Amino acid sequence: MKYKGFCILLLIVLLAHNGHAQVFTQQDSLRGSITPERAWWDLTFYDLQLKVDPDNKFIEGSNLVRYKVLKPSLLMQIDLQQPMKILSIFQDGKPLSYTSKGYSHFISLDKPQQVGDLNEILINYSGNPREAIRAPWDGGFSWSEDANGKPFVATSCQGLGASAWWPNKDHMYDEVDSMAIRVTVPKDLVAVANGKLKQVHEQGDSKTYDWYVTNPINNYGVNVNIADYTSYEETYAGEKGPLEISYYVLKENLDKAREQFKQVPLMLEAFEYWFGPYPFYEDSYKLVEVPYLGMEHQSSITYGNKYQNGYLGYDLSGSGWGMKFDFIIIHESGHEWFANNITYKDMADMWVHEGFTAYSENLYLDYHEGKTASSEYVVGTRQNIRNDRPIIGPYGVNKSGSGDMYYKGANMLHTLRQLLEDDDKWRNILRGMNSEFYHQTVTTDQIENYLSEHTEIDLTAFFNQYLRTTKIPRLEYKIEEDTITYRYTDVVPDFDMPVRIFIGDTSHWIFPTMAWKSDKLPKASQMVVDMNLYIQPKRLN
Ligand SMILES: [Zn+2]
Repeated sequence: MKYKGFCILLLIVLLAHNGHAQVFTQQDSLRGSITPERAWWDLTFYDLQLKVDPDNKFIEGSNLVRYKVLKPSLLMQIDLQQPMKILSIFQDGKPLSYTSKGYSHFISLDKPQQVGDLNEILINYSGNPREAIRAPWDGGFSWSEDANGKPFVATSCQGLGASAWWPNKDHMYDEVDSMAIRVTVPKDLVAVANGKLKQVHEQGDSKTYDWYVTNPINNYGVNVNIADYTSYEETYAGEKGPLEISYYVLKENLDKAREQFKQVPLMLEAFEYWFGPYPFYEDSYKLVEVPYLGMEHQSSITYGNKYQNGYLGYDLSGSGWGMKFDFIIIHESGHEWFANNITYKDMADMWVHEGFTAYSENLYLDYHEGKTASSEYVVGTRQNIRNDRPIIGPYGVNKSGSGDMYYKGANMLHTLRQLLEDDDKWRNILRGMNSEFYHQTVTTDQIENYLSEHTEIDLTAFFNQYLRTTKIPRLEYKIEEDTITYRYTDVVPDFDMPVRIFIGDTSHWIFPTMAWKSDKLPKASQMVVDMNLYIQPKRLN
């Protein structure tokens, strides 16, 4: 039981990364909303160049921002967090001035910005970036060492924001269409970023690794990992053809990696079945060892689960099934579909990433271990639900809702699968979402409407209940001879989710509302409420 306590503690750390109820500042709004200084231009491309000096924990570089003008304006917002400093900003070779509010910088452009034009600005910057306090939840740069004392360095910045280490439009609604990431490091080290490695140049005692991402990418998905890596490759025969896979690990862990990472093709097989083709074939799939637990960096999943199954060796579900897979390989890779392919516009809707991805863990089990395993796992993860705050957070301030977005989100989706009673239809819906919202940023309304439309069930009250309140529907019932009398309490108006019950080997549906109802059912006294539905059954007599 001590182990369980430990694992839940870790999970709470994982879930609580955005803190509790708080007062929002002007900086929160500048960061979390689509300000007028952001709205007029559409990102198309970043060319990020970065020189990393591990000895001095110092970085310097530049970001070229290419954008399309949507509306004429001469004031542009770019974010870069202290202690990083902007050195200079240019457009068409001419220096530009700017004013700063906290870490949001407002650049005065000279050149008229005409609708439809593709323009560029170049921002030079440097500094000792914020060190990660508890990566990846409280991120920044992690400066570590391998067994030989060589630098082992990684970035993580979900929530915190990519502007902690490079200047950009730090809001999730707008993504570049493609991105270059060029990283210069001491020549005995390897730098791994997102996408594919195009070339390596050596100059003096350093090397520059040119990586290129050909697909849209969100800011926190961008990462740089530096170590004396060794690597190996394989090709996966996937739904869209051959998918290149590369593994970058510390030399001391190569043998363990070759064994543990056999789960990657198993993951791809399960997730392509449930969600459709891996969304970034052109950019390959990589699993990269880092000195922290892991993160869903796009096409460059980072891994620090110490080559063991479970979540650092523990089963988050308490069912035993959580030890059948490496939590970080499966969970973080699940995010390629839900976070990197379908991305929230506002962090308040983060359940779109974490609810579906926590749910993906049991679909992995469903594919490889069967339906009972998957049900026991997802039902088991209810032990992590706190019902402290609603899953959906406050909008416009870069804040997420409750950590219940993970396992309450997963159980909500598992409940929805039961209501459909048609796994083919459910699978087509999950696959359909990944093609409908392919490489897009979305709102929860788009996802909720898609699910209502394609399940052909009005899910308005269902989502209001689970995403916007902390109450779990309570099914009160009484059994008298062959009659069951029941109703819901603790529900939002119009909540009328049907409930499957079992009597012996046969299942029946009952249709509770807030008003008492009665059904006549032979042998009602033997009735059992289906555990797969996330409700609280309470017999009153
Ligand atoms: Zn996650």
